[in-house]
Amino acid sequence: MSEYHIDTKCIHAGYTPGDGEPRVVPIVQSTTYKYDHAETLGKLFDLEEAGFFYTRLGNPTLDAVEKKIAAMEGGVGAMLTSSGQAASLISVLNICHAGDHVVSSSAIYGGTFNLFYKTMQEMGIEFTFVSPNSTEEELNAAFKPNTRCVFAETLANPALIVTDLELFAKVAHAHEVPLLVDNTFPTPVNCRPFTFGADIVIHSTTKYMDGHAVQVGGVIVDSGNFNWENGKYPEFTEPDESYHGVVYAKQFGKAAYITKARTHLMRDLGAQASPQNAFLLNLGLETLALRMERHCSNALAVASYLEKSDKIAWVNYPGLESNAYYTLAKKYMPNGTCGVISFGIKGGREAAAKFMEGLKMASIVIHVADLRTCVLHPASTTHRQLSDEQLVEAGIGADMIRMSVGIENIEDILNDIDQSLKQL
Ligand SMILES: *Cc1c(COP(=O)(O)O)cnc(C)c1O
Repeated sequence: MSEYHIDTKCIHAGYTPGDGEPRVVPIVQSTTYKYDHAETLGKLFDLEEAGFFYTRLGNPTLDAVEKKIAAMEGGVGAMLTSSGQAASLISVLNICHAGDHVVSSSAIYGGTFNLFYKTMQEMGIEFTFVSPNSTEEELNAAFKPNTRCVFAETLANPALIVTDLELFAKVAHAHEVPLLVDNTFPTPVNCRPFTFGADIVIHSTTKYMDGHAVQVGGVIVDSGNFNWENGKYPEFTEPDESYHGVVYAKQFGKAAYITKARTHLMRDLGAQASPQNAFLLNLGLETLALRMERHCSNALAVASYLEKSDKIAWVNYPGLESNAYYTLAKKYMPNGTCGVISFGIKGGREAAAKFMEGLKMASIVIHVADLRTCVLHPASTTHRQLSDEQLVEAGIGADMIRMSVGIENIEDILNDIDQSLKQL
């Protein structure tokens, strides 16, 4: 599939039906798979043969969608999860244990921050949060002898900060640890972090990849590029006694990380996606390239419009030339970033609420990144668990409105905004 462009991969990668088989990836709603010989099942369990035996560990519908996303990102393998949160958790847990340390950008999704700052630190994994604008020296200073990975978000939700992926990758690799990147907002249509040195990519597929707001899901993608045999990761070079003594790096080579994520952590944590959700996700993926184009052109038009309004205090969209991250955005996302913009209304919190309530077509929802234009006040909703200091670190002001610009006709979107602004 590598010869196809990304928009073609969105449609065709991952599934090639045989003669007389369904043209569309079918929903295989079965937990279990039948075999004629007990021995075959034994070999599947020992990972000596590839095949399905229990849907927690693999399912033909999930498999097709995993192969499609791996092809879109340019990786060697992928694993769907029940949510983006599960993908973040498993991506780190696959290589970090109690006593290990992670360097994470502070410009990350609020849910990821809570997961790292509270739950995973309670599990004994220590996190150091660094500014997404850190210099090489500042990043280097965050490392410890027990650092096992670096985590960042390509385009942070909702701060819309663009991470200098090449710099983060360079520093991670100088310390012989992988760079894990949450690529949810740009999607592989607008950015493929592996081409900039990232080793593992994760997504909340709940957002643009699905795009219709019908399923919660996540995915982990393995580039196959990281050398797990550098002496720092015994979980890949020493036998896993809980899995018949398998040595992942030896038996699975480039796919060691993603195989272990499945056979070890999906086996133990059971955060798999459902076949029905994988099917819905696949429908979304088929039109992803087309939708991202429209999201980006609509968002740029809305951002430019707001920038000119005297009722708006500030506008944040990396696609605007006035934006601090414009140059980085052009480098990492030359075809556009995403449909999410943020802005502040003059008059702060109160004016923000009045503006949002005045919208007729756009709705107030917690969701973001689907085809309907919607708005949200992060400081009082998605990020309300954060302290004022943490809000500033994450790049979120109390007056910030996050608008997820949909794919409706741009004139209807602008008219809606205009009529609500006029009521202020
Ligand atoms: C929504 C989101 C997540 C969490 O995903 P869920 O599917 O809601 O669990 C993680 N990262 C980013 C960037 C997100 O926007």
